[in-house]
Amino acid sequence: MNESRRMAQLLLPHITKTPADYEALYPPRQLPAGARVVRIAPSPTGYLHLGVLFMALIDRMAADATGGLFYTRIEDTDRKREVAGGVEDIIGGLDRFGIRIDEGFTPAGQVGDYGPYRQSERAEIYQTYAKFLLEQGLAYPCFCTAEELDETRRQQEQAGEQTGYRGRWARCRDITVEQAAERIAQKQPFVIRLRADGSADKRVAFDDAIKGKIELPENDEDFVLLKSDGIPTYHFAHAVDDHLMRTTLVLRGDEWISSTPKHLQLFRLLGFKPPKYAHVAPILKLDGGAKRKISKRKDPEAAVRYFAEQGFEADSVLEYLMTVASSNYEDWRRANPDADRAQFPFNLKKMSLSGALFDAQKLLDVSKNRLSRLSSAQVYDKLTAWAKEFDPDFYAILTADPAYTRAVFAIDRDVPKPRKDIARWDEAKRYAAYFYDELYTPCYDLPPQLSPADAAAALRAYAPLYDPADDRQAWFAKIQSICPALGFAPETKLYKADPAAYKGHAGDISTVIRVALTGRQNTPDLCSIMRCLGTERCLQRLRDAEAYYDALCKKEGN
Ligand code: GLU
Repeated sequence: MNESRRMAQLLLPHITKTPADYEALYPPRQLPAGARVVRIAPSPTGYLHLGVLFMALIDRMAADATGGLFYTRIEDTDRKREVAGGVEDIIGGLDRFGIRIDEGFTPAGQVGDYGPYRQSERAEIYQTYAKFLLEQGLAYPCFCTAEELDETRRQQEQAGEQTGYRGRWARCRDITVEQAAERIAQKQPFVIRLRADGSADKRVAFDDAIKGKIELPENDEDFVLLKSDGIPTYHFAHAVDDHLMRTTLVLRGDEWISSTPKHLQLFRLLGFKPPKYAHVAPILKLDGGAKRKISKRKDPEAAVRYFAEQGFEADSVLEYLMTVASSNYEDWRRANPDADRAQFPFNLKKMSLSGALFDAQKLLDVSKNRLSRLSSAQVYDKLTAWAKEFDPDFYAILTADPAYTRAVFAIDRDVPKPRKDIARWDEAKRYAAYFYDELYTPCYDLPPQLSPADAAAALRAYAPLYDPADDRQAWFAKIQSICPALGFAPETKLYKADPAAYKGHAGDISTVIRVALTGRQNTPDLCSIMRCLGTERCLQRLRDAEAYYDALCKKEGN
């Protein structure tokens, strides 16, 4: 046995499989030519956050654009930082957002022939490939302690050299089997490092599917492959997993660009065909005038749950993220207002190179548009689902009479130009308050041109005429009919022609009625609102308002 093989056997004696075994176990996928295999590899160190959702959405679109496949893999090599329930929250969250997962961790558990899909369950696989590299002298054990590594770093800094385990600073590079055996006998922990074959003054280039050609110095750092507990670093796990799971396109955050020379080197030394890379710019936030990445720790909107709590529909959030992901999405949406998002011809080349700012106002606008297009039945289902979780009192009110609630939300909906009053479900309570006695507080404020005396007179004249059977035209004709006696113009154009001759016009009278019934000067179609409220309730509110204005007049001494 040669020296390298003896070293491999010394370090990983329990490993009996070879790369060939895994190649046979995970054969190339049988997919149509050009079908992409993409994945997301979240670490369960927190809950589903916007960056992961954004990336998963892009993955799904990138896969669908080629009839490809999207799988999930859990990167749990950092057990210390793992949070309980993190995996379920991430996978369940993607599912709630309607992002279909073909393989890997799915809401139904692990699915697929290329697993296990959790890195902590793959130790033997990584170790097999590490042994393979050791056998060829492409890796070696390193026994350096944290103190020794610190010391080396200090010396490198003093000498004005780049820090890192490389070249003449790599103390364990030439360790012999005998030396290693002795240290193992002394129970000294060791990591396994790659014997880097790059040179910092040469460059390596790759063609990034988003950013185009990228050139960087070759890797000359003997970076760690396996940590002392036999668990791989991100770099090594990425190469082994993306090869064996047959990923064709690695979509990941652009903070990994600078590590790509390491990864290309690893793929080459392992004898793997490298995947295509697509590095995605993060979603940014303005913080004191400077742009920075949205942070899990600092920003409430980083947690996807925040959007649900605020009453944003998953669809609105995805729709907004699409506008961030692709510069031509909004044009497409304008041209195809009803199309399913999956029909969008997604192209990685249309992605932002530098990272887009998170724009809360834009999210609201997108959301208003989306919600305005829902039918009243859809509004009922989605709003009550939201209220059930986040506002149980409102839920009870909404569901006490489902047909009534549906009618409330049918007003000015399902028409060519629906109103855009609601962007988030937590705005629905305010929007609909006057429809529910439990939520309604009268407010009799009038526009300045209208006096309480005129308001009381208008309400007195109007109330006996109200008939719920009237259509909009008949309804308005009745309002016009009381105008002359009140000193108001029945038509706006009459008023405009001679404003001095009138106190106001029919629109002002309908404002008085509107205020009396809803407490607001601006609402959706009042005729529909009245029909929905019901005659009895309308008449009661008209009387209450009339009494209020009368009392006010008395107090003012008229
Ligand atoms: N766990 C890594 C991260 O969250 C995955 C990166 C990758 O997609 O390769 O950044």
